[in-house]
Amino acid sequence: MTERTRPGAGPKNVAVILAAGNGERSRFSRPKQLMKLGGRPVIAHALARFQTHESIDEVAIVTNQTCIGEIEELVSREAFSKVAHVLLGGAERYESSLAAIRAYESRSENGDLRMLFHDAVRPLVSHSIISRVVDALDYYPAVDVALSVPDTVVLADPVAQTITNIVDRRHVRLGQTPQGFAYRVIKEAYDRALRDPQFATTDDCGVVVKYMPETPVYVVEGEPSNMKLTFADDLLILDKFMQSQAARQIAAAGDRLQLAGLRDRVIAILGGTSGIGASMATIASAHGASVEFAGRSTGVDIRDGAAVADWLQQTKAKRGRVDAVVNTAAVLDRRPLTSMSLTEAAESIETNFTGAVNIAWSSFPYLAETRGHLMLFASSSYTYGRAFYSTYSASKAAVVNLTQALADEWSSAGVKVNCVNPERARTPMRVKAFGIEPPNMLLDPDEVAWKALGILNGDSSGIIYDVIKDGALSLQPNGTGPASTGG
Ligand code: C5P
Repeated sequence: MTERTRPGAGPKNVAVILAAGNGERSRFSRPKQLMKLGGRPVIAHALARFQTHESIDEVAIVTNQTCIGEIEELVSREAFSKVAHVLLGGAERYESSLAAIRAYESRSENGDLRMLFHDAVRPLVSHSIISRVVDALDYYPAVDVALSVPDTVVLADPVAQTITNIVDRRHVRLGQTPQGFAYRVIKEAYDRALRDPQFATTDDCGVVVKYMPETPVYVVEGEPSNMKLTFADDLLILDKFMQSQAARQIAAAGDRLQLAGLRDRVIAILGGTSGIGASMATIASAHGASVEFAGRSTGVDIRDGAAVADWLQQTKAKRGRVDAVVNTAAVLDRRPLTSMSLTEAAESIETNFTGAVNIAWSSFPYLAETRGHLMLFASSSYTYGRAFYSTYSASKAAVVNLTQALADEWSSAGVKVNCVNPERARTPMRVKAFGIEPPNMLLDPDEVAWKALGILNGDSSGIIYDVIKDGALSLQPNGTGPASTGG
């Protein structure tokens, strides 16, 4: 497909976010679109991705009486400036689509209008998918997003439970959203459908396929991460997909991450006397930030909550504000648990976990004043407990959990909380535990520091960022780019 040119005022792309469902099938405590993912309502992720896509001109949300207050509050809190309408939908999904179609009926630019209908409960739709739909709409009046099927597809008799046929899977796709249409096409399809007393549908492309069979519906490729939240376990899978997208976003950014936004920000770094923390202090200062750092060698042991509180208070008194607090301090005692004394085991947990709690506890009032950012560090070992790392990897798992909880707790105060998981990095802590290792195995602390500062410069929250040496993670098979969520 050729590059799309947009001379002057081209077609207007309106994203319609369908959020009027009440999630009866899923047994959540509240409507799925308001469940939290990474500390934010599910719908906020979807909105952020359309808000930050350059081809989307306007957003309309369709919701219900239960959710409308919270959604309107979210739109204003997160400054989703493209949202032009928050509408009430109906009991069936198609009635919600119709509410949006009707809201745009009288718009003079109807001839040039396109609508992209998206399920609010597909929070991880990528910019690549949105671009594929918008680009295809230059050539086709209706576009669907669907995922190729890797498995063998069998047709089975529902009563006898025996196979009736094996389908050629090249003909089978799993439908996703957004589904895009020229306005006049989706309007005409629904006008015809509503004249049919038997009309029933579960999606918008289905209405075009059935009632405008002369209209081709083009299909662009979906992505596994663009999954729909249906059941409670899906939240765990979405969380992992989100983590994978964030890691790829950071890896793909390479050294292009802009740090100019750090100028004049006050950054307090605990553990800033060596390793990644020291690299962060140097790089942030070089970009005009006011950096204060402390560590055991400067008399601040993060196990001591009072010492942490005093130091943060002094930092605030000296600099007038605190925009970010970073903790990179940690100890790695690589031994079987039973070869440590109880005191040594407690020291590992107190530094690696209680230290993070102490820092978070004392930082909150300062960060609430600046709507600032708390950044904690974990380790790639957090995902799975390993022999000889028991207290270290368990404490790091606790730090990840703490990040998620605080991102949620502090979201209403506008305080962002993220966690960085560096893969093996060439730090004094690692050299002490492992001796000299081949340099190409290890991340450079400056590289980790640069990426961590790039995250600090952004506005994400509740994200666990894996910083990896060799670029891409492998959760998505087709090399599709990450979404620039802006959040
Ligand atoms: O229920 P299901 O997950 O299939 O819904 C898909 C999307 O359609 C959800 O985002 C849901 O909020 C939306 N929907 C709607 N109005 C309805 C039913 C569903 O906007 N009446």
